[in-house]
Amino acid sequence: MRLSRYFLPILRDTPKEAEIVSHRLMLRAGMIRQQSAGIYSWLPLGLRVLNKISAVVREEQNRAGAIEILMPTIQSADLWRESGRYDAYGKEMLRIKDRHDREMLYGPTNEEMVTEIFRSYVKSYKDLPLNLYHIQWKFRDEVRPRFGVMRGREFLMKDAYSFDLDQAGARHAYNRMFTAYLRTFARLGLKAIPMRADTGPIGGDLSHEFIVLASTGESEVFCHKDYLDFATPAADTDFDSVPGLQGIVDKWTSLYAATEEMHEKDAFAAIPAESQVSARGIEVGHIFYFGTKYSAPMGATVTGPDGQLVPVHMGSYGIGPSRLVAALIEAGHDEGGIVWPDEIAPFDIAVLNLKTGDAATDGACDQLYKGLAAKGYDMVYDDRDERPGGKFATADLIGIPWQIIVGPKGLAEGKVELKRRAGGERELVSLEAALARFP
Ligand code: ATP
Ligand code: MG
Ligand code: MG
Ligand code: MG
Repeated sequence: MRLSRYFLPILRDTPKEAEIVSHRLMLRAGMIRQQSAGIYSWLPLGLRVLNKISAVVREEQNRAGAIEILMPTIQSADLWRESGRYDAYGKEMLRIKDRHDREMLYGPTNEEMVTEIFRSYVKSYKDLPLNLYHIQWKFRDEVRPRFGVMRGREFLMKDAYSFDLDQAGARHAYNRMFTAYLRTFARLGLKAIPMRADTGPIGGDLSHEFIVLASTGESEVFCHKDYLDFATPAADTDFDSVPGLQGIVDKWTSLYAATEEMHEKDAFAAIPAESQVSARGIEVGHIFYFGTKYSAPMGATVTGPDGQLVPVHMGSYGIGPSRLVAALIEAGHDEGGIVWPDEIAPFDIAVLNLKTGDAATDGACDQLYKGLAAKGYDMVYDDRDERPGGKFATADLIGIPWQIIVGPKGLAEGKVELKRRAGGERELVSLEAALARFP
């Protein structure tokens, strides 16, 4: 992408309305635009990051055996009357009427709808286990939308729903998602700790929130420090192995970790003082087992091996990709701007042309831009007619992991400068060496 032809509306001044660094940087870097309180447009740079996060989430869901579908954002109120949640959900639900005066709503979550799909098609235990997920916009009329996309009203959620014959099966389904979540957050470069959590309006009795420690987080959390050094489950983890996954979950729940609602002061006090972490955190994911809470009232039953009809055991599993964009910035930034992890960065490499119009500089930049793009790198080329200082600032602000800085002075000696955004190390190398650095 040539910046001269891109849409990157960078703001010079720090927007006053933004209270936390991720919100400030997302506005300054031209990633999002607020359209109403808690409702945002995603501009090109922001959308690239959001899509990259969704891609990692999707890959790990698929690896764990979940199957992608896409359910609508608008749902019928009648469906929610079947579970009893239409009235129970309260003011966070945006209720709508269509032209025929039918009551509809903008989905805040999809337990009812996915249960309706399941009961329409699945009739036998032989078709279980099943886990269906989608990545779709949700709406919750939050009392206090704030911190940009961290707490939006319209936000993107990956929500998965598991169906099993019995509690033991559902436990394994839960362990699959638990393990997939550990892998997902680690791949995003985040240390997310699973913490015992309250189940809230979703209901059920087994639940973990995945929390990223951050001073700007809205949750108060308590955990053992050693979790920060636990190893992530490997990519070749066998998701069909019941004891294998139970072992992973047992390890990751062996030490104290709880959100404020589930906090037990005495158990926490028993941890050696130097290992106690009492901090604020961001909820980036939340998983639940809730048994037959929806399947029983909604008639989602299958015939078991003995021919008897039984309601299926369900769980649901949420991740917020749009909130994760902000959480990644909270975890990765410096005075200059955003520092993206390599896999999530909107572009892999930025080529900075310090003197557009100079034939040698333009030629070298072109060679780098085209050569590295041909190798499959996501390239951004700053070919704008602007001062070098402005180009350095832009590349740092938007956080591209590698910068190749090309100017007539360096080229006279056959060199370009390679800069790593994280850490800021710089190195003078030949054009060929710069090309060879990225295989
Ligand atoms: P919170 O406690 O922050 O209000 P929640 O517990 O209501 O979140 P869940 O119902 O557990 O949220 O939804 C699953 C995931 O969706 C959350 O873990 C979070 O990553 C994301 N999420 C929930 N609400 C929002 C929001 N208002 N804006 C952005 N992401 C959200
Ligand atoms: Mg909430
Ligand atoms: Mg919560
Ligand atoms: Mg939650």
